[in-house]
Amino acid sequence: MVDDVCIAQSVTNLPIDASNHPYTWLMQPRRETRKIWVGDDRTGRVAIGGGAPIAVQTMCAGYTHDIDACVAEIRRYHKAGAELVRVAVPERKDTEALREIIKQVEVPIVADVHFHYQRALESIAAGVHKIRLNPGNINDREQVNSVIDACKERGIPIRVGVNEGSIIERRDKQRRMEELGKYFAGHRAGHLLALMITKLEEYLEIFEARDFHQVVLSAKSMDAALVIDIYTEIANRFDYPLHLGVTHAGTKDSGAIRSVVALGSLIANGIGDTVRISYASDHIDEVKDALEMLYCLGKRERKGVELIACPTCGRIQVDLFTLVKEVEKTLMPELQLPIKVAVMGCIVNGPGEAEGADVAVFAGDRRGIIYVQGERVANVPEEEILARLLAECKTFEARVRSGEAKLGEKKVDIVPPDPIGELGSGHAKIAAGHVEQVTVGRT
Ligand code: SF4
Repeated sequence: MVDDVCIAQSVTNLPIDASNHPYTWLMQPRRETRKIWVGDDRTGRVAIGGGAPIAVQTMCAGYTHDIDACVAEIRRYHKAGAELVRVAVPERKDTEALREIIKQVEVPIVADVHFHYQRALESIAAGVHKIRLNPGNINDREQVNSVIDACKERGIPIRVGVNEGSIIERRDKQRRMEELGKYFAGHRAGHLLALMITKLEEYLEIFEARDFHQVVLSAKSMDAALVIDIYTEIANRFDYPLHLGVTHAGTKDSGAIRSVVALGSLIANGIGDTVRISYASDHIDEVKDALEMLYCLGKRERKGVELIACPTCGRIQVDLFTLVKEVEKTLMPELQLPIKVAVMGCIVNGPGEAEGADVAVFAGDRRGIIYVQGERVANVPEEEILARLLAECKTFEARVRSGEAKLGEKKVDIVPPDPIGELGSGHAKIAAGHVEQVTVGRT
């Protein structure tokens, strides 16, 4: 039992000045960078770097020349929270479509250009808001210069991106790797670190020679640990804002983990100004995962419900997996405020775990008791939980909007109900053989 005296003693033993202590706080202050702006009067402008909130972006999966489909795709991502949307423009018909697409959407659009500098110039003429360019795959320096000059004239920023796959030097590879590797001796991929930094430096010289500084940098790899190291190195060398990403990260499951491990670590270290999580799945998930990562790191103010759910265990009293999925599907589109909602599988740990939530339900004997800021408001059968929870959340949201209630306020401590009392639950009855323990949804 931890009593007040123990806590007081422990706290007294803590160092008053954390700077004298060997540990460091995980979350580091944000790195200072230049600030660039993307957008126009109609779309609004998104700031990248210079202390602006970390911007979330994604990229369209469909063909840009299919105007209606492209517009619909961009709108979907924008609605989900993307603040910039990138489109590929491999062909002339794509840049021709761009002018119409830009007119129809309300989010800044980035043109992704590879190989053909004309596509960049056409995109700029079509009114695109930012260009992504890899100068390494455009042969002629003068062609790159013409893109830089056109962007400068119109105030359009450029992301200068190097990807591990696109910069590997294939000629005399072994010798080059050994040569480059010595700059980061001991690093398992030191040659790649050196190569990416060298390439970025080389490209930046081109931009700076034309006095162009509206630049965002990226250096992506599919190796999450390398992404952490390469961006850390870049952050130490340049003051341009950074676009973070793990490229070719894989499927949604593995890709999300790979991306969040790398990007989350960097952001916790104060590095990163815009993010794209990318994996082989509906890109709407990329946007949702990127936002969730930023919410979890406290880097963006949450919009919409924050859902907490227990992982379930042998005490589970309702079909919680189904319930949580339904709650997520139902509540997310209906509520705009960041209400914390907890869905707990039993009354043993449910009340404790739900304590910090605005609205909580915990289950017992195929029923759910619902609390709003600690106050018990309902005790309903399992099949009514979802509807009642939604109704309580909506009422609560209305009260917050009218100033009657405040998010995160705890009015009453949740007192666990008597398991064989009003709730008619769970363990005593199970033990007595009156009800079967519910294991629905678990295999
Ligand atoms: S709330 Fe209950 S069912 Fe869920 S994990 Fe905790 S003890 Fe298990």
